[in-house]
Amino acid sequence: MSAAPDIVIIGSGMGGATIAAGLAGSGARVLILERGSRIPDTPETRDARAIFQRGHYRPRETWYDQHGSSFNPGNYYYVGGNTKLYGAVLIRYRREDFAELEHDGGVSPAWPFPYEELEPWYSRAEALYRVRGALGEDPTEPVHSAPYPFPPVPDEAPIARARTELKAQGLHPFSLPLGVDHEAWLKRAKTGWDAHPDSFTGKMDAETCGLARALQDPDITLETGAEVTRLETDPAGKRIAAVHYRKDGTEHRLAPKLVVLAAGAVMSAVLLLLRSGDGKNPRGLANASDQVGRHFMNHNTSAVLAIDPRRRNTCIYQKTIGFNDFYLSDGNGGKPLGNVQLLGRVTGPILKANISWAPEWALSIMSGHAIDWYGMSEDLPNPDSRVRVDGGRIILDWQRSNMGPHNRLVAKMKEIFRAAGYPIVLSRPFDRKVVSHQCGTVRMGNDPAKAALDPFCRAFDHDNLFVVDAGFLPNSAAVNPSLTVAAQALRVADHIRSRDLHS
Ligand SMILES: Cc1cc2nc3c(=O)[nH]c(=O)nc-3n(C[C@H](O)[C@H](O)[C@H](O)COP(=O)(O)OP(=O)(O)OC[C@H]3O[C@@H](n4cnc5c(N)ncnc54)[C@H](O)[C@@H]3O)c2cc1C
Repeated sequence: MSAAPDIVIIGSGMGGATIAAGLAGSGARVLILERGSRIPDTPETRDARAIFQRGHYRPRETWYDQHGSSFNPGNYYYVGGNTKLYGAVLIRYRREDFAELEHDGGVSPAWPFPYEELEPWYSRAEALYRVRGALGEDPTEPVHSAPYPFPPVPDEAPIARARTELKAQGLHPFSLPLGVDHEAWLKRAKTGWDAHPDSFTGKMDAETCGLARALQDPDITLETGAEVTRLETDPAGKRIAAVHYRKDGTEHRLAPKLVVLAAGAVMSAVLLLLRSGDGKNPRGLANASDQVGRHFMNHNTSAVLAIDPRRRNTCIYQKTIGFNDFYLSDGNGGKPLGNVQLLGRVTGPILKANISWAPEWALSIMSGHAIDWYGMSEDLPNPDSRVRVDGGRIILDWQRSNMGPHNRLVAKMKEIFRAAGYPIVLSRPFDRKVVSHQCGTVRMGNDPAKAALDPFCRAFDHDNLFVVDAGFLPNSAAVNPSLTVAAQALRVADHIRSRDLHS
């Protein structure tokens, strides 16, 4: 490739890899700059002690909270981004998530377009990520124009029983839509896939699906170990004139026609705010609205362990069902509480990473009798919940919202699991180090005074800049974000093909 590609994509995670796939075959010369490397297929990929206790894949990076306390964030810098470790639940936002939805803690804002606008690209994203699922089980499931490409991942025996127990209580457990070939995954080693990095052994992630599709096009290339350090504007401050990046200690400068930022919700905000301000854009790039870095959201989540000393949980992967009976209402005509889904199997070594004082053998006995659930409630956008930069420091001032409904969701889960015959139910909220579902920091909207991006994720302030990572999301809903990021990335790719490549 010559020194000046037509398009530079920054980041090869869900947004970046998927938009690259959407641009394949367009004739544009695309360069993807990724700061990380590929995850090698070593024994650590399936070693819970290496992953959870020794933090083998965690970044050597420190962020700070608003009180100045430092923490090591669970934000992963590899080819494929955070999807390399994700649980591969590829679920659509509910139709209602695109309109204003009232919660006890405030209002979740409407998208600039309805569900029906994004629907065709949801189907395309499900095809690209080979999603396994079943329609007709979840009353909150929005209309699909195409069925899931593959049947659901089968429940293991303890989960088949849990599904029956939930149904007996009048609930509607559904097969989680999953991007995983469980047979290929288990052939490599008998572990779950949630939070275990994928090395081309069955997970459908940004590297194995989006990027693999993109790189079939000889006009699309990937450069790894390439950390973008700055975006430079033209003298008027209107267009992105150049992308600066560092590789192997050397500084490079490229001047593409279009720039697509997909560095993840936190790092995209950091790049726009910290490293790219100039005389014409003193608040940072794409930030005339002063919205960049604000509205940081991350879901309110808890692990809930349902324990029955009389029954063994023999699951290896476990993560196959969820229920949305309290998604749109608390079940008594009240406001929404959230989604419930299984966690990947939480084994003794994984518990040990969180309960360091207890012996691992004792935790293994406990986990052998526990089914591990995950409660997820919407975190509402708040302008004061924000990513800031102070000198070289990244400050994550996350103002959690809507915790009342989350606590009520956890209480409901406890009632349900006790009624299903699990005498002991323990819960623990995930803390702020877990930034898995980060979103909202470069939000899209119709009004340039209130959003950084237009409904096609184009920066209002810079005609040749797009942001397609989870930063564009105007709300967090209460389902996993990746499929929605992928669907919008494909929609934006089509927009670029029709508007920018042939003009
Ligand atoms: C353990 C875990 C489990 C999860 N489970 C699920 C799940 O089951 N379902 C779901 O939908 N979501 C899940 N998620 C969340 C999901 O992974 C993210 O929502 C998704 O990856 C977001 O996509 P993105 O494009 O915004 O960012 P990412 O996928 O994180 O991609 C950002 C990329 O940009 C690169 N980058 C950053 N800065 C720079 C720079 N300056 N220069 C060059 N490159 C840069 C990063 O290395 C990375 O590759 C999970 C996440 C984690 C960590």
